Order: sequence, then structure tokens, then C-alpha cells
Amino acid sequence: DERRILQYQITLYGDDERLVMARDITRLHRLEQMRRDFVANVSHELRTPLTVISGYLETYGDLAEQLPPRLGRGIEQMQAQTTRMQNLVNDLLLLSRLEIDQGGEDHQPIDVAALLKGVREDALALSKGRQTLEIDIASDAKLIGSEQELRSAISNLAFNAVRYTPPDSHITLRWQMEGDGGCIDVEDDGEGIDPVHLPRLTERFYRVDKGRSTATGGTGLGLAIVKHVLLRHDATLSIDSHPGEGALFRCVFPKERLAC
Ligand code: ADP
Repeated sequence: DERRILQYQITLYGDDERLVMARDITRLHRLEQMRRDFVANVSHELRTPLTVISGYLETYGDLAEQLPPRLGRGIEQMQAQTTRMQNLVNDLLLLSRLEIDQGGEDHQPIDVAALLKGVREDALALSKGRQTLEIDIASDAKLIGSEQELRSAISNLAFNAVRYTPPDSHITLRWQMEGDGGCIDVEDDGEGIDPVHLPRLTERFYRVDKGRSTATGGTGLGLAIVKHVLLRHDATLSIDSHPGEGALFRCVFPKERLAC
């Protein structure tokens, strides 16, 4: 017999009455799985041709001086667009892996100070001195999780802070205890985001300002990746921002994820 997937909804009425509704979501579940597999397969298949194109473009780029200027500029454009497509394909592949795999095999205690230091260095390279980046750690701590995934999530937040804030902005990477657990904050004092956008910000390809975001080099998948990585670490993302008052992206980890 085929396994069915049922979703139950229980509504309580007063002390002793309950309404139980069951919905068969087997088909929905299967379709969702097909969508994930399809995206993962397409992304994977696109990688090889993109690598070949990018390899040839690099060779032609080296010969740019011998080419007519219009051709040289064309090759530069093609290189930039190929890199953009490669970033997109890599992010799509990463996102579908995060959705498909259970995760957890590579979990180990990670030193938060070292994690934030690494993220800061990557963000400084992107910022090229336009913003200041500081680390603020209230107490030494270790988080149990995947170093690679957490580094990629916190880097995405820090890269966004660099991309979406004007020069001379301040960005802070912070660790502090929060309730029984702890949180990593990425805070900036840039232009902020209108609160109407906040509930949809972690959706794939959702952007506040489409034109500007494309120019910044993002793929539109950054916050979706952050959300999925945190989900796999039993953590949550909360976003607080107002126009003109900067933005705060807070990753809250439960106490079960802290290692002393
Ligand atoms: P991308 O940056 O590639 O567009 P993300 O999912 O990382 O995709 O971010 C979604 C959108 O959220 C961005 O396009 C931008 O409009 C907004 N955003 C993210 N971080 C910030 C920030 N620190 N300040 C202002 N806007 C931000």
C-alpha cells in the first residue's frame, strides 16, 4: 500500500469539544518534491556548460588588447553576465540541497568569535573600505551546527549590509545571550526597509528595489538561504527595520544549540 500524508487541524471549543479535520496532502507533497528535484537537476546540469563558456571567455579576455575595442567590451559584458548566472545557479543548487537533505551529519561545536571574524573579513573584501564593520561579542560561546552553512548564512546577511548601505555606514556583527539561548545580529545604520516588505523578504527573488538589487550583484536568493540554514539549526530569523533607521537581522538560537 502507498503511504499517505495527512495534515490534521484540531480546533478546541470550550473545555470538552474538539473539531478534528484531516486533509490528504500526499499529492501536494509529491508535487513539491518533484519541483525541488527539478530545480536541483536543472541547476546541476547548467553548471558544466557555464564553466566551459566562462573558461573560453577568460581566454578571450586575456587577448582583449589585440581585439577591436567593441569586441573587448562585449567580452567583458559576457564575463559579467556569466558570473552572475554562475552565482545564481550555485545559490539555486545550495537552496535545493538545503531543502532536500535532512542535514545534521556535519554538526560540531563552532566558536562564534571565529565565525564572526571570518564573516567580517569576507565582508570587508566586498566593502573595500566603504563601510566600517565591527564585532561585538558579549561572552564567549560555541554553537552546535554546520560551520559551512552558518558561515554562508551570516555572510549573506553581512554582504547584504554592505550592498544595501551607503558609504560611511556602520555595520555590527554581534553575539549576545537572548532568553535561554543566544543570538547573532547583523545590524546596519543604512537606509532601512519599509516594514510592508518585511514579511515577504525571505521569499525567493523578492526584492524591495528590483533594479538596484540586480546592480548590486545579489541573486535574490540570499535571505531564502539564510532562512533555510537557520531552520536546519532550530533557529529563527527576525528582521526589524524602518526607513532611515537602518536594519537589524537577528538569528535566534535555542539553548539546545549552545555548547559550553
Ligand atoms: P538580493 O540581495 O540578492 O536581492 P536577498 O534575499 O539577499 O536578495 O535580499 C532581498 C532584498 O532585501 C534585497 O533585494 C534588498 O532589497 C533587501 N535587503 C536585504 N538586506 C538589506 C539591508 N541590510 N538593508 C536594506 N535592504 C536590505
